[in-house]
Amino acid sequence: MRICNCGLIDRRTLLRGAGATALAMLAFPAVGHAFKIRAGTFCGLSKDRKLPAMTGLAASEKADRVVAEICGIVGLPANFRVLAIDDPKANAFASIQDGERLVVYSEPFMELIADRQNRDWSGMAVFAHEIGHHLCGHTLDNVGSRPPRELEADHFAGFIVGRLGGDLDDATRVFARMGAGSATHPPSAERVAAASAGWRKATGKAGEDRLNVLTHNLKDGNYVRVVVEFSGRDRRWTEVQHGQTFAVFEELKRKGRSVFLFDEGRSIWVRLDVDGSGQFATGFWARGDRQKATPPWTPLDPVAWR
Ligand SMILES: [Zn+2]
Repeated sequence: MRICNCGLIDRRTLLRGAGATALAMLAFPAVGHAFKIRAGTFCGLSKDRKLPAMTGLAASEKADRVVAEICGIVGLPANFRVLAIDDPKANAFASIQDGERLVVYSEPFMELIADRQNRDWSGMAVFAHEIGHHLCGHTLDNVGSRPPRELEADHFAGFIVGRLGGDLDDATRVFARMGAGSATHPPSAERVAAASAGWRKATGKAGEDRLNVLTHNLKDGNYVRVVVEFSGRDRRWTEVQHGQTFAVFEELKRKGRSVFLFDEGRSIWVRLDVDGSGQFATGFWARGDRQKATPPWTPLDPVAWR
């Protein structure tokens, strides 16, 4: 079984910053019956790790409550089996076993990242990240972690924290601690950018639409991932990349789940296929004039990671 884990953190880095006594007070203590989780490839921060079969315990009341809250805000049924494990090498992961959607968290890990000041937003973000993997379909093909999927789950986590009233720092704190990344997991800076875009989507001002697209730009002969943020108000849309305005569009129509934008200066149409939840939108472009786009519609993402 391949599993999508959040690949969050180098545990030694975390331990250096954690009080030894904190481990005595578990943030999400497990209760109840044992559940057999089959052996799988555990995708850690810097390399894949194989984990043996594990025993999961029924989640804590707090974990169940957090998962129910996340599902409630996006109108999902909370049909996940949430399990706690006591493996210090693990953090949290999502997988499907015998048709059942599992969300598994390591108690020592959740303890290390717990925010103790107000609400435990970092714990919330981790659960939202794992649920995001399920919601975005990442657990269906048994491929395991890879960077764009991680960013999509991070974006969803930022969206959830925003919807539930957390601030931008609450949404990104845990993702800022992830280090340099690996073949399966992107570096912290990308993860913070994705979670931030999700948070801004959830907390947009009244009358403002926000749609985010994950794509790749060609830089020095290589494709680099970028989260592109589109925001619209009164039919005027701005495209922002890396915090800078990249282009301005006029919204000329909406049809079904698509928004059609036109850039007069470049004679370019952009179509954004909307998803009402915290997922990324999918973008396409076509040439044309103000009256009409001329197909074909080309995906904005040249790499087509999906
Ligand atoms: Zn993940």
